[in-house]
Amino acid sequence: DSFETANLRKYVLDNILKAGYKKPTPIQKHAIPIIMGGRDLMGCAQTGSGKTAAFLLPIINTLLQDPRELIVGGNGCAQPQVIIVAPTRELTLQIFNEARKFSYGSVLKIAVAYGGTAVRHQGDNISRGCHILVATPGRLHDFVDRSRVSFDSIRFVVLDEADRMLDMGFIPSVEKMMEHTTMVPLKERQTLMFSATFPEDIQHLAGKFLNNYLFVAV
Ligand code: AMP
Repeated sequence: DSFETANLRKYVLDNILKAGYKKPTPIQKHAIPIIMGGRDLMGCAQTGSGKTAAFLLPIINTLLQDPRELIVGGNGCAQPQVIIVAPTRELTLQIFNEARKFSYGSVLKIAVAYGGTAVRHQGDNISRGCHILVATPGRLHDFVDRSRVSFDSIRFVVLDEADRMLDMGFIPSVEKMMEHTTMVPLKERQTLMFSATFPEDIQHLAGKFLNNYLFVAV
């Protein structure tokens, strides 16, 4: 029951300590080794369970452990290595801030994109290159349509609060987005899905988007 046993790099452990986290929450305890082991994951966990760090810590650890060149295409089309999709602006900002906290002082670049504000500022940030992009489905779709974001270098896709995305009618956008990932071989990418509930609709999406996944409920 400690972060020390999770095989995380010292840099990540130091940032956990700085955040004041003393021991992993149940979702972190179970999800971190699964994600570090390279498996797809369906996690059932509420907001407040610590699910954000449960996926960010092993992802950041992997990006630092096995770094790959950050690519931006000729016309400013960014190729994030991690795309995290969440239903609301508020949630994308929370995830973005937590990702910045845990990667503070590292080479990792993080960007955020959500609807309701001008595309330009967010687009400029993305086009400078980002390892991790946190976005709402509509805005992400927009950036992909405008060839500002591509999935060519994707290593991790995270679908957070999938049940809320379903309720808000975002699943068609998410589905279109997931189609872009199919160009990248399965063994080169991991998909993680989180949801507070696990009704039939979400089970169906898990079956569709995840590959041979492990299930954790807390
Ligand atoms: P989340 O469920 O990801 O929205 O996290 C809920 C809150 O718990 C956030 O404010 C986190 O910073 C905090 N938190 C996450 N993991 C831990 C931990 N292991 N120890 C203490 N606080 C944590």
